Amino acid sequence: MKERLPRIGVLGAGQLALMLAEAGERLGVEVICAGSPGDCAESVALVVPVDLDNANMVKAFAERVDVVTIESENIDAEVLRGLKLFPNAKAVGIAQDRLVEKTFFETCGIAVAPFAAVNRAEDLPAAMAKTALPGILKTRRMGYDGKGQARIYRSEDAAAAWEAVGEVPSLLEGMVAFDVEVSLLATRDAAGKIVFWPLIENRHRDGILRRSDAPYMNAKLQTLAESYLKKIMEELEYVGVLAVEFFVQGERLIANEMAPRVHNSGHWTIEGSATSQFENHLRAIAGMELGATDSKSMVMLNCIGWMPEESETEKFAGLFRHDYGKSARPGRKVGHLTFPAGETEAIAVWEKRLAEAG
Ligand code: AMP
Repeated sequence: MKERLPRIGVLGAGQLALMLAEAGERLGVEVICAGSPGDCAESVALVVPVDLDNANMVKAFAERVDVVTIESENIDAEVLRGLKLFPNAKAVGIAQDRLVEKTFFETCGIAVAPFAAVNRAEDLPAAMAKTALPGILKTRRMGYDGKGQARIYRSEDAAAAWEAVGEVPSLLEGMVAFDVEVSLLATRDAAGKIVFWPLIENRHRDGILRRSDAPYMNAKLQTLAESYLKKIMEELEYVGVLAVEFFVQGERLIANEMAPRVHNSGHWTIEGSATSQFENHLRAIAGMELGATDSKSMVMLNCIGWMPEESETEKFAGLFRHDYGKSARPGRKVGHLTFPAGETEAIAVWEKRLAEAG
């Protein structure tokens, strides 16, 4: 008899869970999500109402599935304890605390921006002396899309920055004068096999990813980045997709942060790669063989605060429209558009329209 594929439970029911569930449908793997009524994954998956801060509710959800994965690292480590979780709780715990994460990168031999812990306002002068200005004060926890960050250009800005981040345990980072920002995504299975996608160039505005171009062609940096992710994944006995964001400075890669999950900069893999990040994540955690990552050149644009109508996007051959079905709010990711990189005119049109909208 054929062995049943594991049923996968996702903690969260937003767009990453939605795209995991879509990949699950194609793969024949059942995906159910823990979230709230109205969450966008509902359009393709069963969404069980679960308060993700409530350990008992999460445990009850986990009992309905064979393995659990996450769509956000901002889940309390206490809640994750005891779950059959991929990637494991150690990896998630590191990624949810910027101070622990930076320290971990250093122990892996990966360069990071100069940093110093700021637990109280009184720590700021010494921290500024250590990192030098300009710097960015970032909350240790719960930061995403540029939230929980304040820039410090002169020491007089420090008090306002401390107030702006909410006076919670934070980290001061020296500002890196980077050439470009890139990310590398990889998948590791339980047997230790790792597959990598090509490096991706990422452009942010106001701390939010706007555009990803793949591949970022630099054989030396590709090899270096792959060696870094291999080190991290082996160190953590990691299973699933891992994304690491880097600043490129000449021939150096400076790690900014890692995401122990599928990542926004890899959405183009749905149409652009032999196997998408979503499918390989499911394959890894379901114990299936990983798929090939051969990729075409693609561009992805995020729709922030506004989702164009299908009647407008369908005029552009080659454009792939992903509407997450979320209500639009300023700064909110509500969808994305993917293009073959050769569609330069269409990309220019949509990049401009999306920039004007939000
Ligand atoms: P993060 O939430 O850490 O990913 O930061 C969001 C964005 O802010 C990054 O993608 C960069 O564009 C910028 N940023 C964050 N940290 C630094 C840094 N140390 N130096 C320069 N830019 C940074």
